[in-house]
This record gives sequence, C-alpha cells and structure tokens, in this order.
Amino acid sequence: MFDYSVFTKEIEEAKQKGLFINIRTLESPQGAWLTIDGRKVLNLCSNNYLGFANEERLKQAAIKAIEKWGVGPGAVRTIAGTMAIHVELEKTLAAFKKVEDVLFLQSGFLANQAVIPAITDERDAILSDELNHASIIDGVRLSKAKRYIWKHRDIEDLARALEQATKEGARRKLIITDGVFSMDGDIAPLKEIVELAERYDALVMVDDAHGEGVLGESGRGIVDHFNLHGKVDIEIGTLSKAFGVVGGYVAGRKELIDYLRQKARPFMFSTPLSPADTAACLEAVKMLMESDERVRRLWDNANYFKSKMKELGFDVGESQTPITPVMLYDATVASKFSQRLFEEGIFAQSIGYPLVPHGKARIRVMISAVHTKQDLDFAIEKFEKIGREFGIIK
Ligand code: PMP
Repeated sequence: MFDYSVFTKEIEEAKQKGLFINIRTLESPQGAWLTIDGRKVLNLCSNNYLGFANEERLKQAAIKAIEKWGVGPGAVRTIAGTMAIHVELEKTLAAFKKVEDVLFLQSGFLANQAVIPAITDERDAILSDELNHASIIDGVRLSKAKRYIWKHRDIEDLARALEQATKEGARRKLIITDGVFSMDGDIAPLKEIVELAERYDALVMVDDAHGEGVLGESGRGIVDHFNLHGKVDIEIGTLSKAFGVVGGYVAGRKELIDYLRQKARPFMFSTPLSPADTAACLEAVKMLMESDERVRRLWDNANYFKSKMKELGFDVGESQTPITPVMLYDATVASKFSQRLFEEGIFAQSIGYPLVPHGKARIRVMISAVHTKQDLDFAIEKFEKIGREFGIIK
C-alpha cells in the first residue's frame, strides 16, 4: 500500500515554515469586497485590475453567446472546426495589440507551453530571465533547446549569454522575459533587449500578463508602453487578469501564428474555451478600446496606496506598476501578518517560497480600479495598525 502520510508530512512542514497556502473559499463574485466565511473583507489579492470580472456588459455578452453558440465548442479547433466567436476575438485582439495575428488559447500558462517547444528544438538556444514566471520555466523545460538563464533585468548578462550561445553555434536564439514581473512589479528593459536581439539576430518573446490593461495607451501593454510595435516577435497574453475573464493568447506575425495553428500542442490537442468565456473576453477588449478611464483610475489608486505606505515606513520594493509587494522577508511573519489583516477585514495573502525566493516573503497587494479612496484608506489604516503591532514600522 502506498504510504500517503508522505504528503501529509510535507504539508505539516510547510505549515511550520509559514509556507502553507491557505486557499480561501469565496462566497461572492470578484470585486473590491468579497464575502468569505460570511464576512465582508476588502479584496487586495486578485488580478482583476480593471474590475471586469463582474462587469455587467461582459456578463450580458456571455449570456448572449450561450444562447447563440451553446456552452461547449465540441472538440479541438483543428478537428471540430473553429467557432466564428473565437475568430472574432482573435481579430479584435490583433487590432488592439497592433499585431498581424493572434492565437487564442485556454490560459496564459498554456500559451507559454504552446509557443516555446513549438519554435525551438535541440539546435536552438533559449535565454530566459532568472525571475521569469513558472509557465515560462515549464515551457522552457518542454523544449530540447539549450538554456541560458540571465540575471534579472541585467542587459550585460544577457549580452554575455547571447555571445556564448552564438559561439556554441545555436541555430535560433530565443530571448524570453516577463514584461511586468508578477511578484515585484518591476518592468523588463524591453528596449535594450530588442536592441541586443537585433545585434545577435535573436527572437524576442515577452509575457505581457501583468502589462496589458495596465501599461501603454488604453492598456495595450508593454510593447506599446515602449513604442516597440513590430520589433517584438512574440507577445504572450492572458485574459484572466485585466481583461477579467480567463484565457491566453499569442500575438505576432501572421507567419508565426499560422505555424502555431499547425504545431502548438495545447491548440491541437485541447478544446478551446467556451463561447461564453470567449464572448466576455471580446467585450472586455472592446471596452478597453472605447475608453481608458479604468486604466487611469487603476494608476491613481496604485500611486495613492504606494505613496501612503511609503510615508508610513513600509518597504514596498521597486515596483513600477500597481503590483505592490509589502516586503516582510520572513515567511512566518508574512503568514501571521496576513492572518491579522484577515481578522481586521482585509484579504491580502502572504507570498513565500516557491512563488518568491527564500527570505523574500511578502504580502503582495493588488490594487484595482474598482477600489474607492475609502477602501484604500481602510487598507492603509489596517496596515499601519498591524505594522506597529509587529514592530515593522515605528
Ligand atoms: N504569465 C505571467 C507572468 C503570470 O503572472 C501568469 C498568471 N499568474 C501567467 C502567465 C498565467 O496566466 P493564466 O492565469 O492566464 O494562466
């Protein structure tokens, strides 16, 4: 008989170290406030940057799509055919991102898994920032290409790695970086990366999961932020964060997307998202194209929260975006801090290893456009109270 206590033991160890992930059950939709255990708590955890997750227009679009298309796509698109609603989303996203074509996939995670092994093999080199998201790391693992991990946002180290890959005779060189790093909120030096890539004839792939809806004109993302249209070969996106729904995509040149439709395994072997999801995503993109009001509100909120937290003496890292890491370093402290916040009416999870390196535990605060100034003041007041209790601020 298999001894299942090995799993229980590991969970107990994680609990001792403050690394156990307590998954809360929500009794309400995503929004500024949530109901958990029958209590209203302020939500500082979700990636629902723009408040689209429970937006009426998106809900109505999803309901209409169910009436028109039913609930399931039938099978993978290469076999059962592709519904016009999926194609319409891809075309609209391509216009929004100012690229030639888009491939819609089931998640941002799968988009990374789809592209990386489809375009590289043992003859190639992948150059990946050391703090890239887990889905990039796993995507790289699925490829037989040689890996070169470069120091976080360090252009000189990337140049060194490109030099080495060139000397070792790599056929293709694929540079991969997160656009906005999800745990620290810092932004990749994409302009410099693109310049280096041109020099070494490398491909550039950027994961824009936390950049879209946040950076650039009307939240078009990191490529728009740096005005690098046409210079970044592959953009990975998610529809689960600022767009408020679920799904992922790859954006780029027509030749690349045509190739991925024939070669990317999550596209060829897994059924796409439902018509309801797809229609809600489409409505979110349309709403962003109509107005950037939510994006502006998001930045106002984030700037207000961050400046107040800094004034209080909290270490909020080097974030350049609404992601606000409240650095506590010790995982047990972070876990207890999060628990105290919850008792005071705030849902803000602690984040420890393996999501961040050992010794870099934090409460990651995710600000949203739907937070009111009152909500933010409530959060600041509670952080101040508990920060003093814990001796983290004076
Ligand atoms: N890339 C990055 C940088 C992310 O932060 C995430 C979400 N945690 C993903 C990809 C995965 O996106 P999704 O949730 O759509 O799978």
